[in-house]
Amino acid sequence: MYTYVICYENIADPTKLVETTVHELLHIFDFCSGCPVPTPGEKLDCSKTACTEVRAYSISGTCLADGFLRKYLISKLGHCTYEECVKAGAIGSLITTPDCKDGAEQYVNKIYENCKVEESKLKGPPTVIPVFPWNPPKPVQEKPLSQ
Ligand SMILES: [Zn+2]
Repeated sequence: MYTYVICYENIADPTKLVETTVHELLHIFDFCSGCPVPTPGEKLDCSKTACTEVRAYSISGTCLADGFLRKYLISKLGHCTYEECVKAGAIGSLITTPDCKDGAEQYVNKIYENCKVEESKLKGPPTVIPVFPWNPPKPVQEKPLSQ
């Protein structure tokens, strides 16, 4: 069984929440579709991890023209194509895994063409229809230990 936990007070808006949820559900789909999941203590297969990251950044919509990550990268770099966005996201995710951080860019570049989802095949980011106003709670400040 797989569990997906998100701390929504760290999510700036509902679109980002939906993109993140789609991203994480895609990983669960890939793992349940035969992508082997390492057991604790076992080393990750970095090529397969890179592949599921490329798929997740593609399918989530975050790298489409009005996606959250692509807009962020454009604001920082002045430009960013769909491919640059997907690769940057996947590399960023791989870098956070101890097994794959060395060579993350090479893993992503090696599998990109086989794992990407063409931008033209995506219909757009998931539609967000808020039922309630987006008002996540403020992060809880940890109290200092009492003396
Ligand atoms: Zn991911």
